Amino acid sequence: MKHFLPALALALAPGWALALPPLEDIAAQVSEAELHGTITRLVGFGTRHTLSDTASETRGIGAARRWVQSRFHAISRDCGGCLQVATPSQVFSGPRIPNPTEVMDVVAIQRGSEDPNRVVVITGHLDSRVSDVMDATSDAPGANDDASGVAAVIEAARVLSKQKFRATLVFAALSGEEQGLYGGKVLAEYAKAQGWQVEANLNNDIIGNSHGADGVHDNSTVRVFSEGTKATETPQQANRRRYNGGEVDSPSRNIARFIERLAQRHLTNLKVQMVYRTDRYGRGGDQVEFLNAGFPAVRITEAHEDYTRQHQDLRTENGVRYGDTIDGVDFTYLAQMTRLNVIAMAGMAQAPAPPKGVAIEGAVTPHTTVKWQAVPGAAGYRVWWRGTTEPQWRNSREVPANATQVQLRNVVIDDWFFGVSAVSPDGFESPVVFPGDAGSF
Ligand SMILES: [Zn+2]
Repeated sequence: MKHFLPALALALAPGWALALPPLEDIAAQVSEAELHGTITRLVGFGTRHTLSDTASETRGIGAARRWVQSRFHAISRDCGGCLQVATPSQVFSGPRIPNPTEVMDVVAIQRGSEDPNRVVVITGHLDSRVSDVMDATSDAPGANDDASGVAAVIEAARVLSKQKFRATLVFAALSGEEQGLYGGKVLAEYAKAQGWQVEANLNNDIIGNSHGADGVHDNSTVRVFSEGTKATETPQQANRRRYNGGEVDSPSRNIARFIERLAQRHLTNLKVQMVYRTDRYGRGGDQVEFLNAGFPAVRITEAHEDYTRQHQDLRTENGVRYGDTIDGVDFTYLAQMTRLNVIAMAGMAQAPAPPKGVAIEGAVTPHTTVKWQAVPGAAGYRVWWRGTTEPQWRNSREVPANATQVQLRNVVIDDWFFGVSAVSPDGFESPVVFPGDAGSF
């Protein structure tokens, strides 16, 4: 694989640590046994329904939350206190919360060394359910939906806390998803209150099953869902975007492209299938609340779902076993999904921030000029372009750190989509930023 900016890598900016091992080596630390241990413990709480008991030490959402907290504290002890553990919460009532109920997230924060306000967030949801969404007492193991996501969150914290990153990493087990995405809202509002610039939310929901209801067994594909246009786009911005393009280049979509490219480079036997939708048809997840808050976010989920295992009372009917039990989790697959998250978080947090102020010029000329604002800590930039119907960035040009624009000779502005990324001295590249409001992070 071609090296980034080899000449520039020699001239290191001050303050840059080169200590990060190759992403392959970090990914290799993800342990199936750890993931299995986490899901076993979570299933052991009987139900983790948002409206379930919070006082018991052995059953219900309260016990589960406290256990996740204890895991984060233990991981933090192993890294010399590198994680700050927080439990942001709000009281909600709504159609699926008849009585005011505290919805609490369990969050671990690993502060970045150079750019602590820039934040990459991984989420999974702790709460579980059975057939009746209001049933808070029946056994609801939620092994795949979504103990698998929470296991990935905790394992990512364990693996990544052994390294130091330029940006901040946030690991979060959310509650209230099944009652109406309340935990996502709590964390998105907490992020705003902290002044975090969330570069990406990687929401992991249902990531551990490899046998689909469609009869396919596939343990080497992952779906990454991303919105095409920003949830927060204004009518004026929408007008410009409709005319000039950008309907498939929101920052969330370019996070999906970033993940796809990273998996291709650094993982074996895991193919990213980008889906150009915010979520599965007519369904949702906690990333939606990040999008509503104006933060880039994607949903990471298994390629082939098994609906007999989701949101079901534990039972056997006509020879079919229903329920979200741990025997439905493929831990080899879940480990791969976790590795994808780990390298995506590491890659983004070690790269410079995505460039701001990206713009293009060159109408009625044969050349295109791409401009951006300088990014602190960048050792260079990469200007990308692709055909307007292509899914992934294709052509690129490296640009040195002292430049904030480049002219692409004989590349006609009408025929291509353009973007810019920033590259660190040690070769980590930010997500690509599409010009204007449609693409800005
Ligand atoms: Zn879920």
